[in-house]
Amino acid sequence: MTLKKTKIYMNGEIIPWEAATIHVASTGAKYGANVFEGICCYRGDEQYLFRLREHLERLHESVDLMRLPQQYSDAEFENAIWETLKANGIEGDAHIRLSIIVTGEGLYDVSGPLALVCMATPRGTGTLAERAVDIGISTWRRIDDGSMPPRIKAGPNYHNGRFALMDAKRHGYDEALLLNSRGLVSESTNSCFMMVRRGALVTPPASAGILDSITRDTFLKIAAEELGIPVEVREIDRTETAIAEEAFLCNSFQEVRPIRSIDGITLKQSAPGSITNRLWDAYEDVARGRKPKYRDWLASVGNRSHSPATA
Ligand code: PMP
Repeated sequence: MTLKKTKIYMNGEIIPWEAATIHVASTGAKYGANVFEGICCYRGDEQYLFRLREHLERLHESVDLMRLPQQYSDAEFENAIWETLKANGIEGDAHIRLSIIVTGEGLYDVSGPLALVCMATPRGTGTLAERAVDIGISTWRRIDDGSMPPRIKAGPNYHNGRFALMDAKRHGYDEALLLNSRGLVSESTNSCFMMVRRGALVTPPASAGILDSITRDTFLKIAAEELGIPVEVREIDRTETAIAEEAFLCNSFQEVRPIRSIDGITLKQSAPGSITNRLWDAYEDVARGRKPKYRDWLASVGNRSHSPATA
């Protein structure tokens, strides 16, 4: 997925990829001061932004926690997304990235001016089996709420993911799973971890050093409400992961990546497992508008006045 040649929204304007720059002396460039959201766009009977309201709510929370000014409204965020999709002629599935970057100069405590940037790329789906991954437990620990809060969706947090992902690849894995400072399972480098254990869908709590993932929340709700699968939000030991029946990583970018093996131990079911398959089918129905009960999670791109984010 490359953004090169796409048109980018920056501060109220659609500009060519080459022109979408910030200064090398800015706090955004020097210290990585930015917050962002990655949002999925799906084509069903209409084109939908999936759980836009929750993504914008989390973006506002990241702004507050980073002590940046709340200078952008939901209407501005929505407009940026809409203009970006329109400028790039994207009418199908897409991934959207909405970023707020500190463009002012100074030390790392500078909080403005800010730039609002939106980028979008069309995407295909591919089968779950094609996305299966072998993962390793990282020797790097997940960042901690007391030092670098993972709850904030900020660019600099991804340096922790970078260490872990590069190390995982160096050891022949596709992805890493990080333990938190207490030695319990937290999350992957850009995804939450979910496993099936004795028939229940299990995932670590928000206090385990994770981003409060919107996809994780979606699967917990779909499992409990739609599929009648028991859900457990609880602490997970390292060794419990490798004896799970099945497991997967989830986020609003790669959606679901079934896990084949953990630390070289193949999980009991082949990837994807049967519950992962059922969850994915239900997710697709929900995200593409085929389940009326969840229509509130969809913001129609075609009819912006009906978007729940402005309701
Ligand atoms: N954890 C991390 C570290 C992430 O970067 C992401 C992706 N944003 C997630 C979890 C999943 O969050 P979401 O489902 O909201 O995309």
